[in-house]
Amino acid sequence: MTDVKDLIAGIHTGLFIDGKWQDAEGGSTMNVENPATGEVIAAVADGSSADARRAIETAGDTQADWARTPPRTRSEILRRAYDIIMDRAEELALIMTSEMGKPLAEARGEVAYGAEFFRWFSEEAVRVGGDQTTTGDGKNRILVSKQPVGPCVLVTPWNFPLAMGTRKIGPAIAAGCTMVFKPAGVTPLTSLALVDILVEAGLPPGVLNVVTTSSSSSVVGTWMNSGIARKVSFTGSTEVGKILIGQSADNVMRTSMELGGNAPFVVCRDADLDKAVDGAMMAKLRNMGEACTAANRFFVHRSIASDFTSKLAERMAARTVGNGTEDGVDVGPLIDADGVAKVEALVSDAVGRGATVVTGGTKQDGPGYFYPPTVLADVNPESDLMDTEIFGPVAPVITFDDEDEALRLANATPWGLVGYLFTQDVDLALRLGDEMEVGMVGLNTGLVSNPAAPFGGIKQSGLGREGGKVGIEEFLEYKYLAIPKT
Ligand code: NAP
Ligand code: MG
Repeated sequence: MTDVKDLIAGIHTGLFIDGKWQDAEGGSTMNVENPATGEVIAAVADGSSADARRAIETAGDTQADWARTPPRTRSEILRRAYDIIMDRAEELALIMTSEMGKPLAEARGEVAYGAEFFRWFSEEAVRVGGDQTTTGDGKNRILVSKQPVGPCVLVTPWNFPLAMGTRKIGPAIAAGCTMVFKPAGVTPLTSLALVDILVEAGLPPGVLNVVTTSSSSSVVGTWMNSGIARKVSFTGSTEVGKILIGQSADNVMRTSMELGGNAPFVVCRDADLDKAVDGAMMAKLRNMGEACTAANRFFVHRSIASDFTSKLAERMAARTVGNGTEDGVDVGPLIDADGVAKVEALVSDAVGRGATVVTGGTKQDGPGYFYPPTVLADVNPESDLMDTEIFGPVAPVITFDDEDEALRLANATPWGLVGYLFTQDVDLALRLGDEMEVGMVGLNTGLVSNPAAPFGGIKQSGLGREGGKVGIEEFLEYKYLAIPKT
C-alpha cells in the first residue's frame, strides 16, 4: 500500500501564482492536521493580502488571452485532468482522508464525483452556443453570443475538499474565465494536488491562481475589493456567504452562493420503511453528517415513527467509528474539536427539552475528534438543532399526524437547499415535492448530488446553480449585436 506520508511529502505546499509555486510573503506557513489523530501532517504557505493582490492581478492580466483560446483546447485540458484524477484516484482519496477524516470508501466516492465535474464541463465547453433572431418590427437582426464573465474569486469549504473545487474550476475553465482560488484552511492538500494535475493536463500559467491562508477575510477581501474580479463563486456557511454578497455590491460582481442547509427528511405513513431507513443512513451518515445536504430534521408519521426509529438506531449503532484509513471503519472523525463541541451542545439542549437518546449521544475520547452515530426520539420542535445545521451524525426524530403538518414543519426554516421525501403515493409525492421550499428533492432516495443536475438552494441556502446544463451559464455573460437589415 502507498505510504500516505510519501504522498503528502510530494505535494507542492506553496502559493501557486502565474504558473509558479512560491513562498508566502515572509515565508509564513500554517499547519494541516489529521482529525483522526490530531497529528500535524503538513505545513502549507500562509498567504497575505499582498500575495492575494499578486494573484488577482495575474488573473486579470491573463483573462483576455485565456478567453481567446479555442473551446476545444479548454475542453481537452478538462478531459485530460479528469483522466489523471481517475488514474490517481487512490492517492487522492488517501490525501483527502488524511486531512479531512472521511472514510476511504467515501473519499474514493468523492474523487469520482469531483472528477466527473471536469468530464461534464469538458463536454459543455464546446456547446456554449448563442442565438440569432429578428426584432418584432423586422428591421434588425439580433446576434447573441456568450462571453466569459471575467476573473473569478472561488472560495470553498473543507467538507468536500475535491468536489467543491472542481464544481467551480470546471465551469470556469470551460467558459474561459481566469481564477483566484482559496481552498479551506484545514483541507488545502487535496486542492494543491489538484493544481499539479491541472498543470500536467496543460492549463496555461495565470489561469488558476491559488492562495492558501489563515487570514481568509483579508485574502478574499483583497480580491473582492480589487476591482479586477468580476464574479465570486462561494460554497460555505450562510454567515460568510452574506459577507461576500455584501462585498460584491461595491464592484457590482456576479455571485454564486452554495450555502448552508437544514434538510427535512419526511417519511409519510405509506412509505417503504426499509427504503426510508436506507435513505436516512445515506442522508445522515454520509460525510459523518458534515454535508450541506445532510438530513437535519426527521419528520416521521406517528403510525411508523417507533419502527423507523428503532430500525435506524440499530443500523446506526452497527457502524464502526474510527480512523478512516483503517479497514472496516465506516464513520470517521468530525473536522475539529469545535465541531464536536457544537454537536455535544445541540444534543444536550435537545435532551434538556425532553428528547430520548436511542443510540449514541456521548462523545468518544481522543485523540481525534470522534462523535458516535446518534438517534434522538421525542424531540421537541423548539430544540436548537431544529434551526441549526448539526454537521454531525445526529438524527433527531419528530412525529407528525398528517402530511400537511409535516410540510409546514419542513418549510419552517430560513434555509431551502434540499428535502427528502419517502412515500409510494404518486399524487402525494408530486404535491409535497412541489410545495417543499427547497432547490432539490430526493424522492425515495437519500442522495441527490450529481454533476448532471443543477445543484443549489433557495431562500438563505444560496443563489445560482452548479452543474447540469446551467452550471456553465453562471460563468458566462450574454452580449448581442443589433444589426439593421438592409
Ligand atoms: P465557512 O466557515 O463559511 O468557510 C467556507 C470558506 O470561506 C472557507 O474557505 C473559509 O476559510 C472561508 N471564509 C471564512 N470566513 C471568511 C470571510 N470572512 N471572508 C471570506 N472567506 C471566508 O464554511 P465551512 O465551515 O468551511 O463549511 C461548512 C459550511 O459550508 C456549512 O454551512 C455547509 O452547509 C456549507 N456547504 C454548502 C454546500 C452547498 O453546496 N450548498 C456544500 C458544502 C458545504 P477558512 O477555511 O480559513 O475558514
Ligand atoms: Mg469555518
